[in-house]
Formats: sequence, structure tokens, C-alpha cells
Amino acid sequence: MESGSTPPEGPQAPYTPIPDDPETPPGGWQQPVATPSGWEGKQLASWGSRVGATLLDWLILLIPVTLLIVLVVVVALSSDVGGIVTAILSSLLYLVAVLFYAPLLMGRQGAHNGQTWGKQIVGIRVVRDSGQPVDIGFAFLREFVVKGLLFGFVGGDAHRAFFPRPQGDRRAAVVANLVECFGRDAGNPSDYFETNWPAERWSRGGPVGLAGPGVYTAVGPALRRPVGRIHWAGTETSTYWNGYMDGAVRSGERAAREVLDQL
Ligand SMILES: Cc1cc2nc3c(=O)[nH]c(=O)nc-3n(C[C@H](O)[C@H](O)[C@H](O)COP(=O)(O)OP(=O)(O)OC[C@H]3O[C@@H](n4cnc5c(N)ncnc54)[C@H](O)[C@@H]3O)c2cc1C
Repeated sequence: MESGSTPPEGPQAPYTPIPDDPETPPGGWQQPVATPSGWEGKQLASWGSRVGATLLDWLILLIPVTLLIVLVVVVALSSDVGGIVTAILSSLLYLVAVLFYAPLLMGRQGAHNGQTWGKQIVGIRVVRDSGQPVDIGFAFLREFVVKGLLFGFVGGDAHRAFFPRPQGDRRAAVVANLVECFGRDAGNPSDYFETNWPAERWSRGGPVGLAGPGVYTAVGPALRRPVGRIHWAGTETSTYWNGYMDGAVRSGERAAREVLDQL
């Protein structure tokens, strides 16, 4: 549904306090994220069980490597070209196995949902905040995109103050802030990437494109009214969480439904 009587809840751009003193050292302006004193959701898996499950998964993935190496050696003994071809095919096969091992296992429905074989052995699982089962797409995203990726905004006055400074200063401040939030492991990132959103030609900032007062109430419905066979999606056409990812997904679903209704 795209409408609701309760105010939408969801992600917000983080609050960035206005610096009193422009000379405040890098990392000193943004308040650390308030962390709740105690986790009130499901019981979290211990560090030891997580490490144990990871080691077991590595061990399990070592079995096909060993078998494939044996296969390559056996083939190479009788034919050099055959050995090279087998080595290339084996590497590709193994890459696919590594990529799909966790997502396919964690996406299983039923009692083992959210579990790799390693997690299954130690008795832990991944659960989603939404309560929905882990599916392959979610598991893929978790394993290969979200894990190890830290992200944040520098907005408002902090952006204006930081933008003219050298990138090294910004990086130092951002990393110091991440260390405050996530601990010292965050202090040594393997890569650092930043985008200056106000300089982007089409978005000219973020996170939400604003229409002037009265625009949506007066002509908003025209944004999503089909024109002949053309149906419009995009977060700006959504009536719920307009401007955000939530609105983007809802608008896509609405446009797809419109098209399906016409078929
Ligand atoms: C800096 C920033 C931070 C944000 N942070 C958040 C956040 O924390 N949480 C949140 O929920 N949302 C956030 N948003 C908003 C969110 O990114 C957008 O609401 C969402 O991406 C919109 O999705 P969309 O599919 O409607 O449009 P888009 O993601 O903009 O997709 C439109 C696509 O159409 C393509 N396109 C444009 N013109 C043409 C053309 N003529 N032909 C072919 N292709 C074309 C574009 O290249 C683009 O790929 C942020 C946005 C910005 C800019």
C-alpha cells in the first residue's frame, strides 16, 4: 500500500551538529551514535560461535579445492593442455562455489533458514530485523556487499566546513568518527571512497529532491498518471516515503501492477 495514516518510519539522514569552533579537530564535531545500553532483540550469537562457524565454513570449502587440485594433477600427468584447461575450469567452478555457498545455504526455507553448514553445526543463524526469512538475494547482499562496508553522511555546516579542506583531512575525520562508532578495527580501512553530492549534476545534493510548497498537493497525482502506454515509476511518484528507497520500491511495484492490469 502506498498510503498510511501513521507517519512513515525509516531511515533518516544522521543529525550533524553545527560546529561552534571551525578549528575543532577532525572527527570532533559529530556526536557518536547513541548505542542502547542493552540489546533488546533476539539473543546475539557469541563471538566464539561466530568464529567457529566461519572456520568450519572455510574447512568445508577446502574440501572441493583439495579434490579439484587432485583432479588437475591427475589430468596434467597425462596431458599438459588438458591440465591447463582443467585448472581453468576448476578455478571457475570453485569461484562459483565460493560465491553461492553462503547465499544458497542461508536462503534455504524451513529449519535451516539463515544457516550455512558452519552456522548449522554450531547452532547459530542469521535473522532479519523484519522477521522475514533470509532469502538468497538478502544473503548475497549481506555476504558480499554489506559486510565490511561502512558508510555515512557529512552534511549541512559540517559539509561546508570540510569540503574546501584537503581530502586527507576529510578522510582522517571520517575514519576517526567511524572508530568512535564501531571500534578501532574501523581505523584501518582497505579503501576509502567519497562523493560530493551537491556537485552531482542531476541530484545536486541529497537525500531527497524537494518540490516547492504546494506542488505535490496541487499537481502531484499528475506525476504518476499514465500517458498512453507509458507508466511512471520513481520515488518522486510515490505517495509514501516519497524521495527515499522505500518510495522508489513501492512506486516500481505500483507501476508494474498498472502494466499487469493492462495485459
Ligand atoms: C546522497 C543521497 C543519499 C541518500 N540517502 C538515502 C538514504 O539514506 N535512505 C533512503 O531511503 N534514500 C536515500 N536517498 C534517496 C534514494 O537514493 C532515492 O530515493 C532512490 O535511489 C530513488 O530511486 P529511483 O529508482 O526512483 O531513481 P534513481 O535511483 O535515481 O534511478 C533512476 C535511474 O534512471 C536513469 N536515467 C535517468 N534518465 C534516464 C534516461 N533518459 N534514460 C535512461 N535512464 C535514465 C538514472 O541514471 C538512474 O539510474 C539518497 C539519495 C542521495 C542522492
